[in-house]
Amino acid sequence: MRDLKSMTFDEIAGVVTACGEKPFRARQLFEWMGKGVDDFDEITNLPAAMLDKMKQSYYVSYVKIEKKLVSRLDGTVKYLFRLRDGEYIESVVMHYKHGYSICISTQAGCNMGCTFCASTRGGKHRDLTAGEMLSQIYTAQKDLCIRVSNVVLMGMGEPLDNYKQTVRFLQLVGCEQGLHIGMRHISLSTCGLVDQIQKLQTLRLQITLSISLHAPNDTIRRQLMPVAKKWSIQQLIDACKAYIDETGRRISFEYAVVKDVNDSDACAVELAGLLKGMLCHINLIPVNQIENGNCMRPDMNRIHRFEALLQQHGLNTTIRRTLGADIAASCGQLRGNR
Ligand code: SAH
Repeated sequence: MRDLKSMTFDEIAGVVTACGEKPFRARQLFEWMGKGVDDFDEITNLPAAMLDKMKQSYYVSYVKIEKKLVSRLDGTVKYLFRLRDGEYIESVVMHYKHGYSICISTQAGCNMGCTFCASTRGGKHRDLTAGEMLSQIYTAQKDLCIRVSNVVLMGMGEPLDNYKQTVRFLQLVGCEQGLHIGMRHISLSTCGLVDQIQKLQTLRLQITLSISLHAPNDTIRRQLMPVAKKWSIQQLIDACKAYIDETGRRISFEYAVVKDVNDSDACAVELAGLLKGMLCHINLIPVNQIENGNCMRPDMNRIHRFEALLQQHGLNTTIRRTLGADIAASCGQLRGNR
Protein backbone atom coordinates (compact mmCIF):
# COMPACT_ATOMS: atom_id res chain seq x y z
CA MET A 1 0.00 0.00 0.00
CA ARG A 2 1.31 3.43 -0.92
CA ASP A 3 0.40 6.82 0.49
CA LEU A 4 -1.21 9.17 -2.05
CA LYS A 5 -0.66 12.24 0.14
CA SER A 6 3.10 11.68 -0.15
CA MET A 7 3.07 11.73 -3.95
CA THR A 8 4.11 14.45 -6.37
CA PHE A 9 1.81 15.42 -9.22
CA ASP A 10 3.76 13.31 -11.70
CA GLU A 11 3.49 10.26 -9.47
CA ILE A 12 -0.24 10.74 -9.05
CA ALA A 13 -0.56 11.12 -12.82
CA GLY A 14 1.19 7.76 -13.16
CA VAL A 15 -1.18 6.14 -10.68
CA VAL A 16 -4.24 7.54 -12.46
CA THR A 17 -3.04 6.30 -15.83
CA ALA A 18 -2.19 2.90 -14.39
CA CYS A 19 -5.75 2.67 -13.07
CA GLY A 20 -6.99 3.28 -16.61
CA GLU A 21 -8.46 6.70 -15.82
CA LYS A 22 -8.43 9.88 -17.91
CA PRO A 23 -5.34 12.08 -17.36
CA PHE A 24 -7.38 15.08 -16.12
CA ARG A 25 -8.36 13.02 -13.07
CA ALA A 26 -4.77 13.37 -11.88
CA ARG A 27 -5.15 17.12 -11.44
CA GLN A 28 -8.36 16.60 -9.47
CA LEU A 29 -6.84 13.93 -7.25
CA PHE A 30 -3.71 16.01 -6.60
CA GLU A 31 -5.89 18.97 -5.64
CA TRP A 32 -7.80 16.83 -3.15
CA MET A 33 -4.54 15.75 -1.55
CA GLY A 34 -3.53 19.43 -1.48
CA LYS A 35 -6.70 20.22 0.46
CA GLY A 36 -5.51 17.82 3.11
CA VAL A 37 -8.21 15.14 2.91
CA ASP A 38 -7.70 12.28 5.34
CA ASP A 39 -9.70 9.63 3.54
CA PHE A 40 -11.05 8.68 0.11
CA ASP A 41 -14.57 9.28 1.44
CA GLU A 42 -13.94 13.03 1.57
CA ILE A 43 -13.38 13.16 -2.19
CA THR A 44 -16.61 14.17 -3.92
CA ASN A 45 -15.99 14.76 -7.64
CA LEU A 46 -14.23 11.56 -8.69
CA PRO A 47 -16.02 8.41 -9.88
CA ALA A 48 -16.72 5.95 -7.08
CA ALA A 49 -15.44 3.11 -9.25
CA MET A 50 -12.08 4.86 -9.64
CA LEU A 51 -11.77 5.42 -5.91
CA ASP A 52 -12.73 1.82 -5.12
CA LYS A 53 -10.05 0.60 -7.46
CA MET A 54 -7.47 2.89 -5.90
CA LYS A 55 -8.30 1.77 -2.38
CA GLN A 56 -6.89 -1.65 -3.21
CA SER A 57 -3.32 -0.39 -3.60
CA TYR A 58 -3.26 3.10 -2.11
CA TYR A 59 -4.22 4.85 1.09
CA VAL A 60 -4.35 8.45 2.31
CA SER A 61 -2.18 9.14 5.34
CA TYR A 62 -3.52 11.14 8.26
CA VAL A 63 -2.89 12.07 11.88
CA LYS A 64 -5.69 12.03 14.45
CA ILE A 65 -5.80 14.21 17.53
CA GLU A 66 -5.37 11.96 20.54
CA LYS A 67 -4.77 14.74 23.03
CA LYS A 68 -4.56 18.53 22.86
CA LEU A 69 -3.09 20.86 25.45
CA VAL A 70 -3.42 24.64 25.35
CA SER A 71 -1.03 26.79 27.36
CA ARG A 72 -2.71 29.26 29.67
CA LEU A 73 0.45 31.35 29.60
CA ASP A 74 0.79 32.06 25.89
CA GLY A 75 -1.77 30.04 23.89
CA THR A 76 0.79 27.55 22.61
CA VAL A 77 -1.00 24.37 21.53
CA LYS A 78 0.50 20.95 21.80
CA TYR A 79 -0.91 17.94 20.02
CA LEU A 80 -0.40 14.28 20.63
CA PHE A 81 -1.32 12.71 17.29
CA ARG A 82 -2.13 9.05 16.66
CA LEU A 83 -1.02 7.57 13.35
CA ARG A 84 -2.68 4.91 11.22
CA ASP A 85 -0.69 2.10 12.83
CA GLY A 86 -1.17 3.31 16.41
CA GLU A 87 2.14 5.17 16.73
CA TYR A 88 2.14 8.50 18.54
CA ILE A 89 3.90 11.73 17.59
CA GLU A 90 3.78 15.33 18.77
CA SER A 91 3.42 18.75 17.15
CA VAL A 92 3.34 22.22 18.67
CA VAL A 93 1.67 25.37 17.32
CA MET A 94 3.07 28.68 18.52
CA HIS A 95 1.66 32.15 18.00
CA TYR A 96 4.11 34.92 17.20
CA LYS A 97 3.57 38.51 16.16
CA HIS A 98 4.19 37.57 12.53
CA GLY A 99 1.79 34.61 12.55
CA TYR A 100 1.56 30.97 13.47
CA SER A 101 4.47 28.62 13.51
CA ILE A 102 4.23 24.85 13.75
CA CYS A 103 6.88 22.46 14.97
CA ILE A 104 6.38 19.04 13.38
CA SER A 105 7.81 15.56 13.89
CA THR A 106 9.62 13.58 11.21
CA GLN A 107 9.89 10.20 12.95
CA ALA A 108 8.04 8.28 15.66
CA GLY A 109 10.82 8.13 18.23
CA CYS A 110 14.44 8.77 17.33
CA ASN A 111 17.70 6.83 17.14
CA MET A 112 20.10 9.67 17.86
CA GLY A 113 20.25 9.12 21.62
CA CYS A 114 20.99 12.67 22.82
CA THR A 115 21.15 12.47 26.60
CA PHE A 116 18.98 15.52 27.31
CA CYS A 117 16.17 14.66 24.87
CA ALA A 118 12.90 12.90 25.70
CA SER A 119 12.07 11.90 22.11
CA THR A 120 14.91 9.46 21.80
CA ARG A 121 14.05 7.35 24.83
CA GLY A 122 12.98 3.98 23.47
CA GLY A 123 14.66 4.59 20.11
CA LYS A 124 13.08 5.01 16.72
CA HIS A 125 9.83 3.20 16.03
CA ARG A 126 9.57 4.27 12.41
CA ASP A 127 10.02 7.03 9.86
CA LEU A 128 7.04 9.22 9.01
CA THR A 129 5.88 9.56 5.42
CA ALA A 130 5.87 12.99 3.79
CA GLY A 131 2.06 12.77 3.92
CA GLU A 132 2.16 12.31 7.69
CA MET A 133 4.38 15.36 8.01
CA LEU A 134 1.96 17.41 5.89
CA SER A 135 -1.01 16.01 7.82
CA GLN A 136 0.30 17.47 11.07
CA ILE A 137 -0.03 20.93 9.48
CA TYR A 138 -3.41 20.26 7.85
CA THR A 139 -4.93 18.83 11.01
CA ALA A 140 -3.67 21.63 13.24
CA GLN A 141 -4.88 24.27 10.77
CA LYS A 142 -8.34 22.72 10.58
CA ASP A 143 -8.60 22.27 14.33
CA LEU A 144 -7.55 25.84 15.15
CA CYS A 145 -9.09 27.53 12.07
CA ILE A 146 -5.79 29.17 11.25
CA ARG A 147 -3.23 29.35 8.48
CA VAL A 148 0.26 28.43 9.50
CA SER A 149 2.98 30.66 8.05
CA ASN A 150 6.15 28.99 9.35
CA VAL A 151 7.14 25.38 9.74
CA VAL A 152 10.02 24.02 11.79
CA LEU A 153 11.16 20.42 11.47
CA MET A 154 12.19 20.33 15.08
CA GLY A 155 9.73 17.97 16.69
CA MET A 156 10.39 14.30 17.35
CA GLY A 157 12.92 12.55 15.19
CA GLU A 158 15.97 13.36 13.10
CA PRO A 159 14.79 14.70 9.71
CA LEU A 160 18.03 13.83 7.94
CA ASP A 161 17.78 10.25 9.23
CA ASN A 162 14.56 10.18 7.17
CA TYR A 163 16.08 12.02 4.24
CA LYS A 164 13.88 10.84 1.38
CA GLN A 165 10.54 11.56 3.00
CA THR A 166 11.77 14.84 4.45
CA VAL A 167 12.89 16.10 1.04
CA ARG A 168 9.61 14.93 -0.44
CA PHE A 169 7.79 16.85 2.28
CA LEU A 170 9.78 19.97 1.37
CA GLN A 171 8.79 19.55 -2.29
CA LEU A 172 5.10 19.12 -1.49
CA VAL A 173 4.66 21.76 1.23
CA GLY A 174 5.50 24.52 -1.27
CA CYS A 175 2.98 23.36 -3.89
CA GLU A 176 0.49 25.95 -5.01
CA GLN A 177 -2.29 23.33 -4.99
CA GLY A 178 -1.38 22.45 -1.41
CA LEU A 179 -0.17 24.30 1.66
CA HIS A 180 1.89 26.67 -0.50
CA ILE A 181 4.43 27.51 2.20
CA GLY A 182 7.64 28.95 0.78
CA MET A 183 11.07 27.51 1.55
CA ARG A 184 12.14 30.67 3.34
CA HIS A 185 9.44 29.98 5.92
CA ILE A 186 10.79 26.55 6.75
CA SER A 187 13.56 25.51 9.15
CA LEU A 188 15.09 22.07 9.34
CA SER A 189 16.97 21.10 12.47
CA THR A 190 19.57 18.34 12.50
CA CYS A 191 21.87 16.87 15.12
CA GLY A 192 24.57 17.04 12.46
CA LEU A 193 24.57 14.07 10.07
CA VAL A 194 27.45 15.34 7.97
CA ASP A 195 26.94 13.14 4.90
CA GLN A 196 23.26 14.06 4.73
CA ILE A 197 24.01 17.77 5.07
CA GLN A 198 26.34 17.42 2.10
CA LYS A 199 23.59 15.73 0.14
CA LEU A 200 21.01 18.35 1.12
CA GLN A 201 23.27 21.17 0.03
CA THR A 202 23.17 20.01 -3.60
CA LEU A 203 19.41 20.77 -3.68
CA ARG A 204 20.17 24.42 -2.94
CA LEU A 205 16.96 24.88 -0.99
CA GLN A 206 16.23 28.26 0.53
CA ILE A 207 15.21 26.74 3.86
CA THR A 208 16.97 27.65 7.09
CA LEU A 209 19.26 24.88 8.28
CA SER A 210 19.60 24.60 12.05
CA ILE A 211 22.42 22.62 13.54
CA SER A 212 22.10 21.23 17.06
CA LEU A 213 25.63 21.95 18.18
CA HIS A 214 25.31 22.11 21.98
CA ALA A 215 29.07 22.10 22.63
CA PRO A 216 32.21 23.96 21.60
CA ASN A 217 34.42 20.85 21.39
CA ASP A 218 34.27 17.10 20.79
CA THR A 219 34.86 16.10 24.40
CA ILE A 220 31.73 17.86 25.64
CA ARG A 221 29.70 17.10 22.53
CA ARG A 222 30.33 13.37 22.88
CA GLN A 223 29.00 13.47 26.44
CA LEU A 224 25.72 14.91 25.19
CA MET A 225 25.29 13.51 21.69
CA PRO A 226 26.34 10.05 20.45
CA VAL A 227 26.39 11.40 16.88
CA ALA A 228 29.52 13.34 17.84
CA LYS A 229 31.39 10.02 17.99
CA LYS A 230 30.73 9.52 14.30
CA TRP A 231 31.62 13.02 13.10
CA SER A 232 33.94 15.48 14.72
CA ILE A 233 32.98 19.10 15.26
CA GLN A 234 35.55 20.08 12.66
CA GLN A 235 33.92 17.84 10.04
CA LEU A 236 30.54 19.30 10.97
CA ILE A 237 31.74 22.90 10.77
CA ASP A 238 33.43 22.24 7.41
CA ALA A 239 30.15 20.80 6.09
CA CYS A 240 28.31 23.88 7.38
CA LYS A 241 30.75 26.24 5.67
CA ALA A 242 30.34 24.37 2.39
CA TYR A 243 26.57 24.48 2.85
CA ILE A 244 26.61 28.24 3.35
CA ASP A 245 28.82 28.72 0.29
CA GLU A 246 26.55 26.60 -1.87
CA THR A 247 23.18 27.95 -0.73
CA GLY A 248 24.03 31.49 0.36
CA ARG A 249 21.88 30.84 3.43
CA ARG A 250 22.75 31.69 7.01
CA ILE A 251 22.94 28.71 9.35
CA SER A 252 21.38 28.71 12.77
CA PHE A 253 23.26 26.92 15.56
CA GLU A 254 21.24 25.59 18.46
CA TYR A 255 22.99 25.45 21.80
CA ALA A 256 21.09 23.90 24.71
CA VAL A 257 22.73 25.36 27.78
CA VAL A 258 23.31 22.69 30.44
CA LYS A 259 24.45 23.50 33.95
CA ASP A 260 28.09 22.63 34.65
CA VAL A 261 28.45 20.87 31.31
CA ASN A 262 28.65 23.51 28.56
CA ASP A 263 27.79 26.80 30.28
CA SER A 264 31.18 28.11 31.41
CA ASP A 265 32.83 31.33 30.23
CA ALA A 266 35.55 29.18 28.68
CA CYS A 267 32.91 27.32 26.63
CA ALA A 268 31.50 30.62 25.36
CA VAL A 269 34.93 31.82 24.28
CA GLU A 270 35.74 28.50 22.62
CA LEU A 271 32.40 28.53 20.82
CA ALA A 272 33.03 32.06 19.60
CA GLY A 273 36.39 30.94 18.20
CA LEU A 274 34.79 27.99 16.46
CA LEU A 275 32.09 30.00 14.70
CA LYS A 276 34.08 33.16 14.05
CA GLY A 277 33.48 34.68 10.63
CA MET A 278 30.67 32.30 9.68
CA LEU A 279 27.35 33.50 8.28
CA CYS A 280 25.39 32.23 11.27
CA HIS A 281 23.14 32.87 14.20
CA ILE A 282 23.33 31.24 17.62
CA ASN A 283 20.20 30.25 19.46
CA LEU A 284 20.74 29.54 23.15
CA ILE A 285 18.12 27.18 24.57
CA PRO A 286 17.83 26.97 28.35
CA VAL A 287 17.72 23.16 28.56
CA ASN A 288 14.38 21.65 29.49
CA GLN A 289 14.87 19.17 32.28
CA ILE A 290 13.26 15.85 31.46
CA GLU A 291 12.10 13.18 33.87
CA ASN A 292 14.96 11.05 35.19
CA GLY A 293 17.41 13.09 33.12
CA ASN A 294 20.56 14.53 34.60
CA CYS A 295 20.84 17.67 32.48
CA MET A 296 20.00 20.68 34.61
CA ARG A 297 19.13 24.20 33.52
CA PRO A 298 21.58 26.88 34.66
CA ASP A 299 20.09 29.99 36.25
CA MET A 300 19.18 32.74 33.81
CA ASN A 301 22.04 35.01 34.92
CA ARG A 302 24.51 32.41 33.71
CA ILE A 303 22.74 32.11 30.36
CA HIS A 304 22.63 35.90 29.92
CA ARG A 305 26.33 36.09 30.65
CA PHE A 306 27.00 33.33 28.10
CA GLU A 307 25.00 35.30 25.54
CA ALA A 308 26.84 38.52 26.33
CA LEU A 309 30.23 36.85 25.90
CA LEU A 310 29.28 35.54 22.47
CA GLN A 311 27.96 38.94 21.48
CA GLN A 312 31.17 40.60 22.63
CA HIS A 313 32.97 38.31 20.22
CA GLY A 314 30.75 39.58 17.43
CA LEU A 315 28.40 36.62 17.20
CA ASN A 316 24.76 37.10 16.46
CA THR A 317 23.17 35.44 19.51
CA THR A 318 19.71 35.20 21.05
CA ILE A 319 18.15 33.22 23.86
CA ARG A 320 15.16 31.17 22.80
CA ARG A 321 11.94 32.29 24.45
CA THR A 322 10.22 29.54 26.36
CA LEU A 323 6.68 28.98 25.14
CA GLY A 324 4.14 26.55 26.53
CA ALA A 325 6.10 25.97 29.72
CA ASP A 326 2.95 24.79 31.51
CA ILE A 327 2.14 22.08 28.94
CA ALA A 328 5.57 20.47 28.55
CA ALA A 329 5.67 21.85 25.03
CA SER A 330 9.11 20.58 24.19
CA CYS A 331 9.19 17.48 22.13
CA GLY A 332 8.82 13.95 23.35
CA GLN A 333 7.50 14.68 26.80
CA LEU A 334 3.84 13.97 26.09
CA ARG A 335 4.48 10.81 24.09
CA GLY A 336 6.86 9.66 26.79
CA ASN A 337 4.18 9.99 29.45
CA ARG A 338 1.86 7.83 27.46
N1 SAH B 1 16.84 15.73 15.60
C1 SAH B 1 16.84 17.11 15.25
C2 SAH B 1 15.51 17.82 15.46
C3 SAH B 1 14.70 17.49 16.67
S1 SAH B 1 15.24 18.10 18.22
C4 SAH B 1 17.96 17.83 15.98
O1 SAH B 1 18.65 17.20 16.75
O2 SAH B 1 18.17 19.00 15.73
C5 SAH B 1 14.96 19.82 18.13
C6 SAH B 1 15.88 20.64 19.00
O3 SAH B 1 15.53 20.53 20.38
C7 SAH B 1 17.33 20.22 18.90
O4 SAH B 1 18.15 21.36 18.88
C8 SAH B 1 17.50 19.45 20.18
O5 SAH B 1 18.84 19.32 20.52
C9 SAH B 1 16.68 20.27 21.14
N2 SAH B 1 16.30 19.60 22.38
C10 SAH B 1 15.92 18.33 22.55
N3 SAH B 1 15.67 18.07 23.84
C11 SAH B 1 15.86 19.22 24.51
C12 SAH B 1 15.76 19.61 25.88
N4 SAH B 1 15.41 18.74 26.81
N5 SAH B 1 16.05 20.88 26.18
C13 SAH B 1 16.41 21.76 25.23
N6 SAH B 1 16.54 21.47 23.94
C14 SAH B 1 16.26 20.21 23.57
